[in-house]
Amino acid sequence: MTTLFSKIVAREIPADIVYEDAQCLAFRDIAPQAPTHVLLIPKRAIPTLNALEPEDAALMGHLWQVIPRLAEQLGVAAGGYRVVANCGPDGGQSVDHVHFHLLGGRPLTWPPG
Ligand code: 5GP
Repeated sequence: MTTLFSKIVAREIPADIVYEDAQCLAFRDIAPQAPTHVLLIPKRAIPTLNALEPEDAALMGHLWQVIPRLAEQLGVAAGGYRVVANCGPDGGQSVDHVHFHLLGGRPLTWPPG
């Protein structure tokens, strides 16, 4: 499946990439909602959280290992940050390639809209 984010992985679309390893890529959101707003994606395009299979557990675990290291790299670990995964239309998902938003750099309100 080719997604917008797959094209960023393939360097067909430019992005401000802040982290990469064999399994995942992180880049700054084009429409940041906070001073720090980065998207962390698996390189393999999984359309939504609903499509995750048991064999994706290691990949998802890896992403969660990367998140705090990325937060440290971005300078938001100490102050705190939020990780968001939108799923489906009601969840506000607009790109069908599983991704985590990492938001920080300002106090974030709760609940979200
Ligand atoms: P979603 O709404 O699916 O949870 O999040 C998708 C995110 O992708 C949005 O925050 C949107 O701003 C971001 N986005 C959409 N197109 C691009 C793009 O071409 N480049 C980058 N860096 N971010 C994008």
